Amino acid sequence: MTTQEVRPLDLNPVARRLEEDLLARWRDLLRSTAFIGGPEVTRFEENFARFLDAKGCVGVANGTDAIVVALKALNLQPGDVVLVPAFTFFATAEAVCWAGGVPRIVDVEPATLNINVAEAERLYTPEVRGIIGVHLFGMPCDLRALTDLCDRKGLWLIEDAAQAHGARFEGQRVGTFGDFATWSFYPSKNLGCFGDGGAVTGMDPERLDRLRSLANHGRTAHYQHGEVGTNSRLDALQAAVLNLRLETLEEDNRRRVEIADRYRRQLAGVGDIGFLAVPKGRDSVYHQFTIRSTRRDDLRSFLDQRGIGTGVYYPIPLHLQPALVGIVDDSARPVAERASEDVLSLPIYAELSDDAVDRVCAEIEFFFD
Ligand SMILES: *Cc1c(COP(=O)(O)O)cnc(C)c1O
Repeated sequence: MTTQEVRPLDLNPVARRLEEDLLARWRDLLRSTAFIGGPEVTRFEENFARFLDAKGCVGVANGTDAIVVALKALNLQPGDVVLVPAFTFFATAEAVCWAGGVPRIVDVEPATLNINVAEAERLYTPEVRGIIGVHLFGMPCDLRALTDLCDRKGLWLIEDAAQAHGARFEGQRVGTFGDFATWSFYPSKNLGCFGDGGAVTGMDPERLDRLRSLANHGRTAHYQHGEVGTNSRLDALQAAVLNLRLETLEEDNRRRVEIADRYRRQLAGVGDIGFLAVPKGRDSVYHQFTIRSTRRDDLRSFLDQRGIGTGVYYPIPLHLQPALVGIVDDSARPVAERASEDVLSLPIYAELSDDAVDRVCAEIEFFFD
């Protein structure tokens, strides 16, 4: 069979679209030799903070470092406990360990696979200092319930917004609810650069200043270091990519929503396919479009044979990750465990054509027929 291949993600179109503008900016950078910091980085930090309506933005080296430095800026101490959802990319818990804390793994809601806030409250003890809420697959977690719980218990909140650039909760951009929000610009993210990149945004300028210093060797003046920090900065070449991609982020996200709607319309009632819920007042930016089926593995290999690439995010919930054995309680998180067995993410990116979506849907219907 000779059918068009559909990749889960294709960065070629965006690389081609940006090539000319980007080469011009990169040529300017080569001539100015402003490789670390400089105007591209500052411009991006300002642009991204304005886009979110946040008070400020600090570029860092990647989304994992963003969480680590945010935890440090919140004064995480050795042994402090941080609540994190069971169903997310490993970095959410890894960063807590790397910063000296102990993650406590909270099961997720069946409808959205985002952190179950009632469950977080049940796992609260006085050793808990804060919560990392993840906006999984671009869908905001329940920020109302989370901020309420944090207020009642005196906890800080970090939004891990690595998958949710531009998403809104009750009309307000995610990334403006927590004490800090952390961002990854890994190439596959909704706002991705052409290498590694990340940022922390926040609503408190003083805290952001401290964080900026921590990410820059704890520097207080030239060759003077007020505290022990690290080296984690966004580089200028990547900031140039991000400035260009930020211009079309809203449009790109709108296209992702269109694709998600198309999948939902065409796949409704097909086989045993289930969708994640879209709670009222939450605007996802569909970093992933994820369906659920008890026949996930067979469906995935069927699609693979037909040239359609899919992803399983995530095959192992955090409490069962080998690296966390002995660090976290590995007793059952039934919702996350079930999700790890039945989720399948379909191709989605702004440049994906309706024809490609229709082909994916037709093959899925064929599989279930
Ligand atoms: C991608 C991602 C990260 C880590 O970002 P990197 O830039 O790859 O370090 C953290 N959390 C979540 C939820 C992510 O999706």
